[in-house]
Amino acid sequence: MFSVEEALERMLASIVPLAIERVPLSEALGLVLAEEVIAQEDMPPFANSAMDGFALLSRDSQPRAGSPPRLRVIGGVAAGYVAEQTVQEGTAMRIMTGAPLPAGADTVIQVELTRSEGANGEWVEILQAVAPGNNIRPAGEDMRRGQMVLQRGSEIGPWEIGVLATLGWATAPVTRRPQVAIVATGDEVIDVDQPLRPGKIRNSNSYLLEAAIHKAGGVPHRLGVARDTVESLREKFSEAVQYDLIVTSGGVSVGDFDLVKDIMAEQGEINFWRINMRPGKPVAFGHIGNVPLLGLPGNPVSAAVTFELFGRPVMRKMMGQTRLLHPQVEVVVEDGIGERVMRRHYVRARVEWRDGRFVARTTGNQGSNITTSLLHANALVIVPEGGVTIPPGGMASAMMLDWPEV
Ligand code: AMP
Ligand code: MG
Repeated sequence: MFSVEEALERMLASIVPLAIERVPLSEALGLVLAEEVIAQEDMPPFANSAMDGFALLSRDSQPRAGSPPRLRVIGGVAAGYVAEQTVQEGTAMRIMTGAPLPAGADTVIQVELTRSEGANGEWVEILQAVAPGNNIRPAGEDMRRGQMVLQRGSEIGPWEIGVLATLGWATAPVTRRPQVAIVATGDEVIDVDQPLRPGKIRNSNSYLLEAAIHKAGGVPHRLGVARDTVESLREKFSEAVQYDLIVTSGGVSVGDFDLVKDIMAEQGEINFWRINMRPGKPVAFGHIGNVPLLGLPGNPVSAAVTFELFGRPVMRKMMGQTRLLHPQVEVVVEDGIGERVMRRHYVRARVEWRDGRFVARTTGNQGSNITTSLLHANALVIVPEGGVTIPPGGMASAMMLDWPEV
């Protein structure tokens, strides 16, 4: 039986990042930059004012015989325009935030430190001496032409998108999103819009996985349910091989497994692991043709948890991410975990920051068929192998499912 870490390491070893493509900036969120970003221009491109005020020569701001100097206002410059006049000794120009500094001026005084006769007054009094460069944002202060601004491999978030837009990158080179096929299995599994009939259950896994794949940055494709026959599975897999990754649910527990295994052996290569964890002991991994296949257990909770532990990291590696794993923190397990489980136990819990520490409360019955144990959970408390219990108020590590990966 493999540990979670061994199984994950083996999976990741066979995964390579997908191809690079250019996407419009508005579609780049969450993707990974496939090239470094070098500023091809100075930013800002021109020296401009950081304030609404007056552009002047700094030496004209010195008080004269103890009273504020009065300068003649020769015009104004708004953001988006370039002043035609030159500011000379004894004169000033009205200037708005973001407007280019007019020729001749070497400083800007904010309007609050001046006195003038309203918006179109012909003079301004300078109430405070200002040094050269005051309130001026020099060209290239933010980015210099030729400067490396973003490294290849950076994840693109809203702030990166802002910088790319500043530099005029209408598209971004990224590692593309995986297209993921979802195949449910089982003669008992019917679609969500079907009334229940004796012996049947609704296909929750395909929908849960569709959402989880989408949330992980992939593009999910639900291919429906394969019957528990070689022919039906073969047909689904023949459709699934046009995607970047195949995620199946069910058909990997000991009795069922031979069927999926036969097809994987027939059409590719198969590893099957019993993983030392609960929920979700049996997980299959391998390839159909060249397409990696991740076979998750059928029990919905097991499918959900094993997707977080294995599916997400696999997808993230495909997307060129280097931070693949959910972060862990130490938590106080308020209600404790009394159940003795020999395998490593991932207990669904709600973790909150309270009185200066992270406190976890488990979500009740932890059976792998209890889908409601997933509700409100934002973490998995990790109970080590070997039948360990955690008393109420005891400490444990928790994997945070809603924090960015590390
Ligand atoms: P299996 O791994 O195929 O033996 O399935 C284990 C358990 O998960 C059984 O109780 C199945 O009925 C259930 N199951 C399998 N597939 C699904 C599915 N797509 N949605 C909900 N439950 C499922
Ligand atoms: Mg089954």
